Amino acid sequence: MSHLTSEQISDYLSAASDGGVQRHLAGCAQCRSEVERLDAALRGFRAAIHQWAEAPSPPPAAAGLRNPWWVALAVAAVLLVCVLLSRQAPAPIPAAAPASDAALLNQIDSDAARTVPAPMEPLSQLVSWDPEE
Ligand SMILES: [Zn+2]
Repeated sequence: MSHLTSEQISDYLSAASDGGVQRHLAGCAQCRSEVERLDAALRGFRAAIHQWAEAPSPPPAAAGLRNPWWVALAVAAVLLVCVLLSRQAPAPIPAAAPASDAALLNQIDSDAARTVPAPMEPLSQLVSWDPEE
């Protein structure tokens, strides 16, 4: 005789089998042991599910990490820093490189000796004032 298929065993375990399956199980030790093995596994799974469902919930996370307000603020701060860093202008390239070391020193001297910043030089020309006097 042919043994029960896995579908017939499943039907038997879910109480949806016909009388033929029960007659076969009564006379076949191999299928009976297979049904008992699967039934034990299902009972173990069911017990584990109930145990999991009735277990107390894990303790809540630290209040600081659980508060979405702090998380949103931290993310916004990181994004702001990233935007500011990415918008920083690159270092200005000198318009004309001095031809020699002497020319470079002269340029540095004139820049260091300037009494007003370059954007204010037109104003300093309006007001004639010589700090050397
Ligand atoms: Zn069998």
